[in-house]
Amino acid sequence: MNSTSSLWQKELSQSFTKPADLLNFLELNSNLISTAADKDFPLRIPLSYANNIEKGNPTDPLLLQVLPTAKELINPKNYLDDPVGDLNALKDNCLIHKYHDRALFITTGGCAINCRFCFRRNFPYSDAQLTRQNEERAFQYLQENQHINELIFSGGDPLLLTDQRIQHLLQNLAEIPHIKRVRFHTRLPIVLPSRITTELSKLLQNTPLAVIIVTHCNHPNELSVDVNQACLKLKQSNITLLNQSVLLKNINNNIETLTQLSEKLFSCGILPYYLHTLDKAKGTAHFDIQSKEAIHLHQLLQKRLSGYLVPKLVKEEPGKASKTLLF
Ligand code: SF4
Repeated sequence: MNSTSSLWQKELSQSFTKPADLLNFLELNSNLISTAADKDFPLRIPLSYANNIEKGNPTDPLLLQVLPTAKELINPKNYLDDPVGDLNALKDNCLIHKYHDRALFITTGGCAINCRFCFRRNFPYSDAQLTRQNEERAFQYLQENQHINELIFSGGDPLLLTDQRIQHLLQNLAEIPHIKRVRFHTRLPIVLPSRITTELSKLLQNTPLAVIIVTHCNHPNELSVDVNQACLKLKQSNITLLNQSVLLKNINNNIETLTQLSEKLFSCGILPYYLHTLDKAKGTAHFDIQSKEAIHLHQLLQKRLSGYLVPKLVKEEPGKASKTLLF
């Protein structure tokens, strides 16, 4: 931290990283945490997210997304380090090209929050840094592959990059004639809404590329007043807002929660886009539900909600040319 850091950077630096501090704050017993799970994938939660967790409730649906528990140490053999085949699709260290007309940059390995269900929790980020050399090669790849018209900024969380870095990447992208759109996959508007500054919104508004932000929100309790304001700021900057959720056992696998999630997303100016079944990453088996249950929930959602509030139910299968629609 230096004196010129923004509010969001300050908030980020004050995140909970010690399990005891978080549990103390939430008035919960310290035996809920597994030290081994925390060592494997350390706890990290901004205060703005922790404030949405109900104190004294060990089964709070937001807490369950972030708490390292002993369940992560039980690993059935079909739960893998790289469940979606990222490594096979990796070109030039930080660029993943799986689908015909879009490619993805691993912009950073950092996140504001460490989600226990993350499909990239075991990703070798240290080998995929967006160094100057990797960046040059990635842009070269984009120049040469003229059928790519959309670039996805992913990670980690791309909105952890500084405004200057984002601007630099957008400027370089805008110079490639066949790139029309840039998509950010990010959890920051949801977990650290102070990141959505006026400066960032302007920067995104001023690029000639069409900008899409895909937020990652799994539960209506994540959508606080501050999140709502951050999303409306993005919306006013002509940014298309979509959301993807993961179906998570004991967190959102019920019709009431999913209905409220879609309704509340819409009131924040976000359209529900994807409802993913869990990618089978090592350490995440306890969040998984059967496909049959996922399809049933989706059918119920269709009966309840207007079509535009029903996200597509999908799963990702390594090597496939697109995500697989389950229903
Ligand atoms: S990449 Fe996304 S899902 Fe994974 S830990 Fe970071 S914010 Fe959470």
